[in-house]
Amino acid sequence: MHGSPIKHCRQCGSAVEQRIPDDGDTKPRAVCPACHTIHYINPLNVVGTIPVWGDKVLLCKRNIEPRKGKWTLPAGFMELGETTAEGAARETVEEAGAQFEMHALFSLINVARVGQVHLFYRATLLSPEFAPGTETQEAVLFDEADIPWDEIAFRTVKETLEQFFADRRAGHFGFHTLDI
Ligand SMILES: [Zn+2]
Repeated sequence: MHGSPIKHCRQCGSAVEQRIPDDGDTKPRAVCPACHTIHYINPLNVVGTIPVWGDKVLLCKRNIEPRKGKWTLPAGFMELGETTAEGAARETVEEAGAQFEMHALFSLINVARVGQVHLFYRATLLSPEFAPGTETQEAVLFDEADIPWDEIAFRTVKETLEQFFADRRAGHFGFHTLDI
């Protein structure tokens, strides 16, 4: 899944051809036979937070597909015009209705097979009260021992949580990159 395949030219509306452009490119692209526009599809950033209240971490139960009913850290697609940290904060407000303070970037995970880069920032909650949006069934604080590991929606979230708890035990939060 690299986003929806482009069927029609974004410039003139003609049906595009999937072929390697004649400009020395090496990959097939959606090329317009009418106006010769080449449409490039690039990876998307997913940005989120690891919100903490004391020893507990905030997880959101998804109310939307994919993985409806599974648990995730608050995260979503970065929007144009915002920084990665702004996007992570926005998603945390939208999905959990949480109040928090942002900290350093904690994990960067390449998911090349789906054309995504996932980034998670540490955050400290300023209140244990939440007002989840429509994308979330419930927002719940979990002790490490109670994390529903078999019900985590995405592998990037599971990897980030495991590394977060490992760093916390070690007494130092680092920055971690991973390719999955
Ligand atoms: Zn065109």
